[in-house]
Amino acid sequence: MRIVFIGPPGAGKGTQCKRLASELAIPHISTGEMLRATKGESELGEFVAGYIDHGNLAPDDLVMQMITDRLSQPDCCDGYLLDGFPRTVNQAIRLDTYLSERQQSVDIVLELVVEQSVLVERLLARAQTENRIDDSIETIRARLEVFFRRTAPVLDYYRQRGMIRSIDGSLPPESVFQAIRAELNLPG
Ligand code: AMP
Repeated sequence: MRIVFIGPPGAGKGTQCKRLASELAIPHISTGEMLRATKGESELGEFVAGYIDHGNLAPDDLVMQMITDRLSQPDCCDGYLLDGFPRTVNQAIRLDTYLSERQQSVDIVLELVVEQSVLVERLLARAQTENRIDDSIETIRARLEVFFRRTAPVLDYYRQRGMIRSIDGSLPPESVFQAIRAELNLPG
């Protein structure tokens, strides 16, 4: 199964994705993690940090290059869970093109819905415990603004195609996970 998982920063998408991918035994592919992993590579790392550290999106061309390289790996042939990708309509269109060239398509798009005030609270708490540079108050605001301006249209893109399932992400993590399982008709 090819799953796209979309949610604003702080919605708890990382936690849910890890658990779901492990239950389905498919790779969990997070573009945020892939981008952060460039940190050690001096030039690319600096280039990427210039975006991430300010809460801005990395350029589509770079992200597409990374993701298509990853999706062409043998472990992706039976499906995967995309976490934090696509984040722009351009990325969504380019993903569809990439897949249709291989007679494939996204099967389902899961959307985690959480109110903005709750997101800010959660992100501030995370900034204190995880010490993520992109979790300062200014970048939290920037990331939320970028989500609603650039990624919300991706949800509309998939909604028009009848592919979205929305889940209430304000519930405790266990209830969110059970709601996801129900949407996917997973047994048990
Ligand atoms: P995340 O771990 O998904 O919250 O992503 C952390 C940061 O990585 C984001 O705030 C963006 O700066 C960058 N990023 C992650 N995924 C993408 C993407 N699909 N396109 C552009 N930038 C991305």
